[in-house]
Amino acid sequence: MRQLKIYLADLTHVGNGIATEGFPLNIGLIAAYAKKFYPNDELDIQLFKYPQDLKQALLKETPDILGCSNYTWNSNLSYYFCSLAKKLNPETLTVYGGTNYPFDSKNQKLFLEKRPDLDVHIFYEGEQAFLKIIERVMTSKSLKESLSSALPGSQLLSKATGEFLNALAIPRFRELDSVPSPYSSGLLDKFFDGKLTPLVETARGCPFSCNYCNAGDKYFSKVNLFSDEYVREELTYIAKKAAEVGAGHVTFADNNFGMIPRDSKTAELLVELQQKYKWPSSITVWTGKNSRERVIDVTRLLGDSLSISMSVQSMDRAVLKNIKRDTIRLEDYKKIAEELNFQGRPQHAEVIMPLPEETMASHISGLNQLLDTTVSRVFSHTLQMLHGTPYKDDEDFVKKHGYITKYRVVPLDFSIIDDLPIFDVEQVAVASNTLSLKEYVEARKYLFVIDLCYNSGVFDLLKKYIRSLEVKNSEWIENIYNLIHAYPENIKLIFNSFENESQSELWDSEEELVRFYSEPINYQKLVNYEMGGNVLFKHRVWMLARESLAWVHTVFAITLEQLKQKRPERASEIEIEMRSLKEYTLATVNGCFSPENFVKPIEIDLSYDVLTWMKSKEVLALNDFKTNEPQKLTFAFPDSSIRVMSDAFTRYGTDLAGLVKMVQRCAGVSFSRRASLSATESLRVIPTATVERSYGPGYSAM
Ligand code: SF4
Repeated sequence: MRQLKIYLADLTHVGNGIATEGFPLNIGLIAAYAKKFYPNDELDIQLFKYPQDLKQALLKETPDILGCSNYTWNSNLSYYFCSLAKKLNPETLTVYGGTNYPFDSKNQKLFLEKRPDLDVHIFYEGEQAFLKIIERVMTSKSLKESLSSALPGSQLLSKATGEFLNALAIPRFRELDSVPSPYSSGLLDKFFDGKLTPLVETARGCPFSCNYCNAGDKYFSKVNLFSDEYVREELTYIAKKAAEVGAGHVTFADNNFGMIPRDSKTAELLVELQQKYKWPSSITVWTGKNSRERVIDVTRLLGDSLSISMSVQSMDRAVLKNIKRDTIRLEDYKKIAEELNFQGRPQHAEVIMPLPEETMASHISGLNQLLDTTVSRVFSHTLQMLHGTPYKDDEDFVKKHGYITKYRVVPLDFSIIDDLPIFDVEQVAVASNTLSLKEYVEARKYLFVIDLCYNSGVFDLLKKYIRSLEVKNSEWIENIYNLIHAYPENIKLIFNSFENESQSELWDSEEELVRFYSEPINYQKLVNYEMGGNVLFKHRVWMLARESLAWVHTVFAITLEQLKQKRPERASEIEIEMRSLKEYTLATVNGCFSPENFVKPIEIDLSYDVLTWMKSKEVLALNDFKTNEPQKLTFAFPDSSIRVMSDAFTRYGTDLAGLVKMVQRCAGVSFSRRASLSATESLRVIPTATVERSYGPGYSAM
């Protein structure tokens, strides 16, 4: 038997740093499974994440098989390498696997016809289907022979006749442990390079059937588990390796973490690893949509290292029915948010827009309901039209809901390889029967206000104060949004730019987009964040880096008027209290994006023990924390942040593009000063509040 050379690639774009930081777990699993059947030297498998490494390997020696992942964020990049491989050696068999692929034969055939340098596309779970491809190549004399009949679990166009060959799907694994761990077997060792984030999977499948998501297909409806022993061995292996290179984060690929009873054991294991190896310091999971008690219990163990995501998608019952998500109980979400908020745990809620029959009113009402659950942050994503869902593959469905779609570059997903610019592009919905393009843009502006006021952390004090006066978050946000026309000109300029770019990032076709950005001058605009990218992120950095003081003054002025109207009997008290809160907030943001000023501590005197007030779990009146004498607070960055930021200012520069890069790259750094009691101060608090105050000088509350 001859030795087969196989290259497997799960590529990331690199035009502006690493765009997709997850370990290539998918190709690791495929390689581990294949090696189980060919344990000796029959297979020479190499794995790739970075385009430059794959290019070098291809130029050195072409493989018998090149297998590439196919997602919206790397599809065109992968195709470039399929074409390169074919050019270097037409006998190389090229394979795609991944979710950016239609589920119906008609569209699958079209997909393959559009990509003549792609030979085979795997459908559904990849490990067994790829093994079939290996077996076929092993037993064939030529590429033509390999591609002369159908391959189980894949589709292809016959090399001889051009006929579309579609075999039956391969049933899913019953026992996921059939696939050896690519981590524990050392296959992924080379990716512990300090740049990538370990990605793990403890369960596969999803019991829900959301129609905008390809995991909602019934093929995936049963949830299969890797065994406890498998998970323990794999996570322990990762912990040791990650500790060596200082990687702190881990992402779980599971669709509903916390919903399965076993997940509590995984959470206990993670806590054990944190204690032993100081890893993971932070964790991303997609939490279960039902089973409220269990999700709360499991996530409690992980404390602040876990930012819990609650993907509600819409708060409108009719819309949830349209997207086949009505089995998910909104009540559970609300209870989870309340409980986590009480525990002081970070959490965020996500919605998608525009879903079928969502109106502007129902969308804004949904966002408002989420704001009022007191969830820590609220995000809204633009609906992506994904293959494997009717949104991309069913014309009648798209017509029925009147969808208007546009194309935009997936943020950071561009590269230049061999002087050729390559872009990966997403198709998004920007209007429907029930929501116009104008409303789409307005909804984004509303989201921008939420992002700046509610999500950014700048106004955490104000949020608490508003609640103490029994004003709803949604009323507060709506009021700030309604007064955009009255903002100062420098703030309006940022809002206008946000509004313009929300539209100018959209293109009528992928071809038009590629033509435009392929011009060197326009490509450079992507690199500089002048165009494309994450429009909301860029404008947030712009506001907080350049206009933070004006923005804080604006928000406080609007809020003061609102609160005085709401509580006229307390107007003068509110004015005094708000003055202190504003002074505090200004000190946290003043000069934070200036290399000269951010290191300078700021001291202020306050008449309230704001630190203790913020720390209290209950929402108490600020007035109860009035001090006998002014309390001196120092606002400064911790030494660790100063080091990282000083380096980043030098590395990226201080123009807007540099600052955006800096915020993006310095994950874990909070770009605002922290408050602590000045070293010479002792506490002088009138003992009316019922919260713990057993801390001394230097204590930091934020
Ligand atoms: S719950 Fe999440 S993973 Fe499952 S079908 Fe819905 S969107 Fe997809």
